[in-house]
Amino acid sequence: MDDFATITQKRMTGGFRLENINGKNLHVDPGPGALVRTHQFGLDPFKLDGVFISHAHTDHYNDAEILIESMTRGMTKYKGHIFGSLSVIKGYKKWGPCISKYHLSKSRYHLLQKGQTVKWDDIYIKGIKTIHGDPTGIGFQLNFNDLKISYTSDTTYYHKLPEYHKHADILIGSVIRSGSDRIKDHLCGDDFSKLVEKVKPKLAIMTHLGMKVIMNNPEAEARRISKQTNCKVIVAKDGMTIDLNKI
Ligand SMILES: [Zn+2]
Ligand SMILES: [Zn+2]
Repeated sequence: MDDFATITQKRMTGGFRLENINGKNLHVDPGPGALVRTHQFGLDPFKLDGVFISHAHTDHYNDAEILIESMTRGMTKYKGHIFGSLSVIKGYKKWGPCISKYHLSKSRYHLLQKGQTVKWDDIYIKGIKTIHGDPTGIGFQLNFNDLKISYTSDTTYYHKLPEYHKHADILIGSVIRSGSDRIKDHLCGDDFSKLVEKVKPKLAIMTHLGMKVIMNNPEAEARRISKQTNCKVIVAKDGMTIDLNKI
């Protein structure tokens, strides 16, 4: 989300939740409002097994600590896993840390770096390079039961991005502007189209839309990319649910 979309809350900024991936629930990039939205959309904040934070920008980490508190039943139980970039977990130069030592103390935490894979029981999480303000920021590809879910997080388009996300069944991209309206450190519509074209996912989801797209028919942009790539492309909406068995 750009700062204005976050501050005005024209679109919610709570990130997204992957439910029942091999029995586990993972909250990804819990920005401002993640806890409130969890309640609002009828999900149980206690039923959380993992929290993933891609980088040290508030729109991605703001509610991480409170979700960690709910995951650990108010820090009374040793439970759950925290996955995050170096900046998020340990801090890197002026970025982070975003989670206090106290909040890291009741869960297993994993520092995820580009190209590394972390095994979470029978789920594999591969860290994927981003080029963004936070130099240690990461996207991921999650692999379980032959299903691959990829998330770009915030990044500039770069040559190897499609290769790192290849074979994704579901590709979730942070797309901040439409068409060729590129701003520094982020994907625009044309970048996402190029990525979708090369990765050929069963479903591509545009999220993290900036104000300009939100106010200007984002669905039309999704249709345009869909036509260009011959893939199903949708725009994430507040409270949207997608059944992974039906893609
Ligand atoms: Zn962001
Ligand atoms: Zn960012």
